Amino acid sequence: MTEPLKPETIAATHGVASDTAFGAVAPPLHLSSTYAFEGYERPGRYDYGRAGNPNRDMLGDTLAALEGGAGAIVTSSGMAAIDLILGQLSPADRVIAPHDCYGGTLRLLKARAARQQFQLTVVDLSDTAALGNALSEGAALVMVETPSNPLMRIVDIADIARRAKAAGALTAVDNTFLSPALQRPITLGADYVVHSTTKFLNGHSDVIGGAVVTARAEDAETLRAWSNVTGTAGSPFDAWLTLRGLRTLYARIEWQQATAGAVATFLKQQPQVTAVHYPGLADHPGHALAARQQQGFGAMLSFELAGGTDAIRRFCEAVRVLTLAESLGGVESLVAHPATMTHADMGADGRRMAGISDQLLRLSIGLEHVDDLIADIDQALAVASGKAVPLCRFEELADRENRLRATVHSSVDTAK
Ligand SMILES: *Cc1c(COP(=O)(O)O)cnc(C)c1O
Repeated sequence: MTEPLKPETIAATHGVASDTAFGAVAPPLHLSSTYAFEGYERPGRYDYGRAGNPNRDMLGDTLAALEGGAGAIVTSSGMAAIDLILGQLSPADRVIAPHDCYGGTLRLLKARAARQQFQLTVVDLSDTAALGNALSEGAALVMVETPSNPLMRIVDIADIARRAKAAGALTAVDNTFLSPALQRPITLGADYVVHSTTKFLNGHSDVIGGAVVTARAEDAETLRAWSNVTGTAGSPFDAWLTLRGLRTLYARIEWQQATAGAVATFLKQQPQVTAVHYPGLADHPGHALAARQQQGFGAMLSFELAGGTDAIRRFCEAVRVLTLAESLGGVESLVAHPATMTHADMGADGRRMAGISDQLLRLSIGLEHVDDLIADIDQALAVASGKAVPLCRFEELADRENRLRATVHSSVDTAK
C-alpha cells in the first residue's frame, strides 16, 4: 500500500519536473490563448484558454489535494470565486451569511440579493438559535468565515455544516485567513471552500486571485463549466506565480503564526492596549474551539488601542517595519485600521453591530524577525501615547539606512 503524500510535499512538488517537452523542473508558463487540434473533430486536452489552461489546472489540482477536495476552479480574484458559487442560485433560494463576513463578500451578497438573484439572511453564526431560525425558513447555501475579520471570532464549522445539511443547504467556508495548512473545512463537512489566493496561499502580495475547492467532483465540473460561461478564470501568469508562492506555504505560516503569538502576548502586556483578539490567547472566547478545529492559531490578530483617533493616527504613521495597508497574508507585516480602511464601506452602524470599534487595529504578521516587529510596535505605541516624538521622513530614511548598515556590520563581525 502506498502512503499518501504529506501536504508539505504536495505544496513543494506538485507539477515539479512534469514538463515532457524539455524536462523543465519548474513548471513552464503556458500563455497561449488557444491550442492546436490534433485533427478534424479531435481537440487535445486544451482547446481555448478561458475554458482551461495548464497553469490554472496545476494550481487547482494542488489546492484540491491540500484541502482534501475533489476539484478546484481557479478564478481571477477571491470575489470571483465567491460569485462563481452564487451564480448557481435561483431567485427562490436563500443564502445565509455571517454578519461579520469579509466586507467585499457582504457587498456582493447585498448587491445580488437587491437584484433578486437570491434571498439573503444575514445572521450572527455564533448564535445557534439565530442560525436555527434562519435555516427553518429554508436555505440553499450557508456561508461561513472563521476566524472572522477583524475580530478573529471562531465558529464551529462541523456543527454548522451538519445543521445546514439537515436543512437541505450546502455550506461554503471562506478559508482565506488560515489556508489548508491550518484548517481543512471539507474534512469538517463543508461542500465548498473558497479562497482569496491573494493572501496566504500566494503569500507575496503580488497577485490578485481566488479559487473554489469542491468536496464533490460533479460540483467541480458544474463550476468549471460556469466559470467558462461567465469568463471568471484567472490569468496563467497569476496561477504560475500563486503556485510558486504556495510552494513555501507550510514553512511560511508556521514562522508567521509563531511570531503572531509572540506579538499578541507582547500587546496584552501594554497598558494602552485595552483588548487583544488572537485565538491563540487562552482568554480568547474561541480559544478552545480553535484549538480543536484548527491546526494552529494563524498569523492574523487585532487589538484595541486607547487614546482616541489621535492615538490611532500616530500609531499608523509611526510604524516603520510594519506598513499601513489593506490585505494580509504576505511575507511583509501590515497594519490596517478597519474603521477607515477595510471596513469603511460598512458604515458606522454596521461596524457597531459587528463589534468593530474605531480603536481597533488589525495586524497581518509576516516573516520579519519577531524582535524587530515587537521593537517597532513598542516605539509606535510610545508615539501613539505621546511619550515619544515620531521621526520626520528624512530621519526615518536615515534611521533605516543606519539599521541596515548595523546589520551588515554585525554579520561581518560574527563571520570573523
Ligand atoms: C481578501 C478577501 C476576500 C476577497 O478576495 P480578493 O482576492 O480581494 O477578491 C474574500 N474573503 C476574505 C476573507 C478575504 O480576506
